[in-house]
Amino acid sequence: MKVGIYPGSFDPVTNGHIDIIKRSAKLVDTLIVAILQNTNKNALFSVEERIHLLEESCKDIKNLKIECFSGLLIDFAKQQNANLIIRGLRALTDFEYELQMAQMNKHLHSEIETIFLVTDVKYSFLSSSSIKEVALFGGDVSNFVPPIVSEKTLEKHKGGI
Ligand code: ADP
Repeated sequence: MKVGIYPGSFDPVTNGHIDIIKRSAKLVDTLIVAILQNTNKNALFSVEERIHLLEESCKDIKNLKIECFSGLLIDFAKQQNANLIIRGLRALTDFEYELQMAQMNKHLHSEIETIFLVTDVKYSFLSSSSIKEVALFGGDVSNFVPPIVSEKTLEKHKGGI
């Protein structure tokens, strides 16, 4: 049984993430979307909220599990008996960081492979941080994120970020 892990902050999940999730789910028996509990990042959504947004946005994907983790990704991947780590690539700027991380993870645990899925060009400019920035200044993000995310981002904005 092939288990894949797609890790990230998902603060919040965007249509770019959803595209990678849908495509990855076809490559493995079980796909685990792993939310990093990162205390350094200035998070807009709590981990619980991010889980909810992911669950609502990915209801139709049957072989999906949503988990959160802290600490080293490779330790979490081992714990989950994962075979693959899946990452998305938007541009050359992603590549350098991703390459380093993949090589480090390979050193830490050689049995787990990292694979990269190249973004669909229509999502190549999308990031969670750009969504947060647009929303902060009252811009419409509904074309870039699932409807529930757009709704909840707007609510946060109204409440004053
Ligand atoms: P972000 O960089 O948007 O804050 P994450 O840290 O949640 O996103 O990223 C998780 C993974 O998803 C990373 O591998 C990242 O490169 C990938 N990813 C993020 N946005 C996109 C996108 N628009 N298209 C493809 N992959 C993406």
